[in-house]
Amino acid sequence: MSEDARCLICKRQEHEPQKDVILSTDGFVVRHSRETNILGYLVIEARRHILDLTEATEDEAAGYGALLKQVMALIRKLTGAERIYTFSLGEAVPHFHVHVIPRTDSLPRYFRGRGIMSYPLEPALKEEQMAEVCKSLRYLLKTSPPGSTQVKP
Ligand SMILES: [Zn+2]
Repeated sequence: MSEDARCLICKRQEHEPQKDVILSTDGFVVRHSRETNILGYLVIEARRHILDLTEATEDEAAGYGALLKQVMALIRKLTGAERIYTFSLGEAVPHFHVHVIPRTDSLPRYFRGRGIMSYPLEPALKEEQMAEVCKSLRYLLKTSPPGSTQVKP
């Protein structure tokens, strides 16, 4: 964990209830996003306060690749997304985190591709929706056939 108490991600990992956490590994935490109302929009956060993968250990970097694959498969299972967008910017919060966003058939064309950056942040998912989607994601993780996921509880 980080010594940087001002970092929002560090603070959240250390102090806030983890009810939106879907899974965690030695190096990363995966939670459902509280930005936007896109169901299945997950965020992979490094446990350590690092800017990006150049500061990751070899184990963290290798773990990240496997975890990203697992998270993308999970999102596809949940949403049937045709595309899954991934990006990390590190501008607002310089703590390595990756947005993993399902692009389903129902997303209007103007939000597709780079248009996803203009998707409105409000309204966010309601708490009941958040609880329900997190429950579904955890269920999918538990019931996934062996080999499709390597989950660390
Ligand atoms: Zn941090």
